[in-house]
Amino acid sequence: MISDHDLLSNIEHVKRKIAEAAVKVGRNPDEIMILGVTKTVDPQTMQKSYDYGITHFGENRVQEYLGKSDIIKRDCYWHIIGRLQTNKVKYLDQRITLIHSLDRMELAEALQARGEKIDWVFPVLVQVNISGESTKAGIEPENLKNFLLSLSKMGNISVRGLMTIAPYTEDPEVVRPVFRKLKKLSVDMARERVENISMEVLSMGMSGDYTIAVEEGSTIVRIGSAIYGERAYSQPG
Ligand SMILES: *Cc1c(COP(=O)(O)O)cnc(C)c1O
Repeated sequence: MISDHDLLSNIEHVKRKIAEAAVKVGRNPDEIMILGVTKTVDPQTMQKSYDYGITHFGENRVQEYLGKSDIIKRDCYWHIIGRLQTNKVKYLDQRITLIHSLDRMELAEALQARGEKIDWVFPVLVQVNISGESTKAGIEPENLKNFLLSLSKMGNISVRGLMTIAPYTEDPEVVRPVFRKLKKLSVDMARERVENISMEVLSMGMSGDYTIAVEEGSTIVRIGSAIYGERAYSQPG
């Protein structure tokens, strides 16, 4: 388990790096939210990080989220960031601030049905597979507009923006074009003015590449290991 001292200094380091990257490109650092990615992180450490200013937590397993949300005694915000199985949608409700990983119509339909049942509109981001890696989830960029047009008719889903996962490398020459392309897509889609679709949020950047993501326009960086230390076991994104 990470020490309080290391946790605090990691958080301060990440905040400083974000501020530097934002200022470098003329952005206001306050526009960028840090989402603490807490898969495999114990609830006690999460509570500490909350006390140090990380109030939004991202989980990629619904069961893990449910278990921790029962234990954690803080008024935190919960996000779902990983591949979401349709059979887990029945556990989701008003306590989820944002789902980052809407990547297929079947999932949209499950969320829509769940939203109708509990009389709730789910805020979501559409995950886009910019890098084209076959192992990555997400809508292909060329199919995004049609996907958004379909979602715009679903009254219990509210699209707030886009999310992507860059290739697993810190090489800026590889990740920068991926982030730049997502930003461009969001600008292009915003221009379409599709009803019920907003493009305010760009969820991009993880521990290895968040400064580049901020330079390219990210509004939510999803940070796990740079804050909480290396995970005990690795999980696919
Ligand atoms: C695990 C994960 C992260 C955080 O990864 P780190 O490299 O530890 O910061 C971000 N986004 C998604 C979708 C993840 O699954």
